[in-house]
Amino acid sequence: MTASYDWTRGDIAVVGLGRSGVSATTLLRRLGARVYASDAGTSAELASQGDALRSLGADVQVAGHDLARIAQASLVVTSPGVAPDAPPLASARGAGVPIISEIELALAVMPGLRYVAVTGTNGKSTVTALVAHLLRSVGVEAEAAGNIGTPLSELALRPSPPPWVALEVSSFQLHDTPSIDPAVGVLTNLAPDHLDRYASVDAYYADKALLFRHATRTSQWVVNADDPASMAMVKAFPGVQHRFATSGRLSDGFLGGKGKQHLIVRDESLLLRSELPLLGDHNVANALAAALAVMATDDAHESLDDRARLAAGLRSFRALPHRLEPVAEVKGVLWVNDSKATNVASARVAIDSMTRPTILLLGGRHKGEPYSSLIDAIARHCRVVFAYGEAAPIIEHDLAGRAAVQRIEGGFDAVMRQAHALARPGDAVLLAPACSSFDMFKNYEERGRAFAAAAKGEG
Ligand code: ADP
Repeated sequence: MTASYDWTRGDIAVVGLGRSGVSATTLLRRLGARVYASDAGTSAELASQGDALRSLGADVQVAGHDLARIAQASLVVTSPGVAPDAPPLASARGAGVPIISEIELALAVMPGLRYVAVTGTNGKSTVTALVAHLLRSVGVEAEAAGNIGTPLSELALRPSPPPWVALEVSSFQLHDTPSIDPAVGVLTNLAPDHLDRYASVDAYYADKALLFRHATRTSQWVVNADDPASMAMVKAFPGVQHRFATSGRLSDGFLGGKGKQHLIVRDESLLLRSELPLLGDHNVANALAAALAVMATDDAHESLDDRARLAAGLRSFRALPHRLEPVAEVKGVLWVNDSKATNVASARVAIDSMTRPTILLLGGRHKGEPYSSLIDAIARHCRVVFAYGEAAPIIEHDLAGRAAVQRIEGGFDAVMRQAHALARPGDAVLLAPACSSFDMFKNYEERGRAFAAAAKGEG
């Protein structure tokens, strides 16, 4: 099902020189392509990356893009961080130049690759990491790649890429990956997100549906039976469905047994819920989805031995950084870094995972969704909400009269000082901002690190 490309026709423009743009350029040079690679950034790191790529024979421009040149390219390879309406992509589109993702390039170069593709609004990275970890637990050589960190082209550059990959794909990447055809596809859930980059929720969901673009009767899909939007989407496509649920609904993977304390997968208990080291019901969903995905790659993983290995894999898995990650317990206060909760739905599940009175840090750059749907979860778990950053007035407005909200003026330091001042032994302080970080930080990782450092008193 992989599309074929002629890498030697004309110029290929690589837009964005983050980690994926760098490996895409390297890979294209290896394929003998003439490459024009550009990035609007001006950092020293970018400049030195540019030099390295020039030495491979690529034509590299930093601190801007030559839009006319991009419009004349035979193909554009784009990076996940470039917005679809950014000038270089708009220019390519206007000139009718095909745009593909860096993942499409890598899939075209590794036509025999077997992969589990993971998409959805929330939980993608966690499920992707879990799938890779569980595949390794049952003795399959596998790695996580895609949006999670290691670009797929980086694996394609290796002398021997792993035989199996757990591949995280965002909606933007799906849009530009016509060859996506996974051995198993996982849709974690669907909720409004990225309204800053999509015209509507329907447009966002339409890109997610591209996971299923090559679906046949024998395709394997892992889907969330608790989520009506996901179920409505998958219904439109052929294939075998493996359903997971945490609501008590009977499914291929669900919470059941005595007191609903067991993760039941394909009719048998896999492990006790209390043995899963991750916080919150949503992580039970992630674990069920990953276990079902691994079993769907090969029925042999349903054997008793492999079930025991899968259970051991789930026991040994730890929260990824910035995802509901306990970073410090200081003077009886637990500090939890969920900087990756950059939309309202993920912030809600984080709040609902708290088992202590919580000070919630909410704010950053507003992405378009109202915060009012957090009110019930806040009422259940939070003593107070700190509203900070650009979104502070909107948060205050949306929660007015329904939650105790304190507006914190000033930078993130001021937010953390106030959290230290107010937190009492037995409390949790949760950073689940429901916003992007770009008003104050380079990215969510930098925000999470600032939180962790200040939590430990190093800030
Ligand atoms: P993604 O890669 O889709 O952004 P992550 O695994 O990085 O997802 O998790 C991001 C945040 O989303 C987490 O910190 C948590 O707050 C929330 N989250 C994780 N899994 C789920 C889920 N299954 N359902 C809803 N929210 C989730």
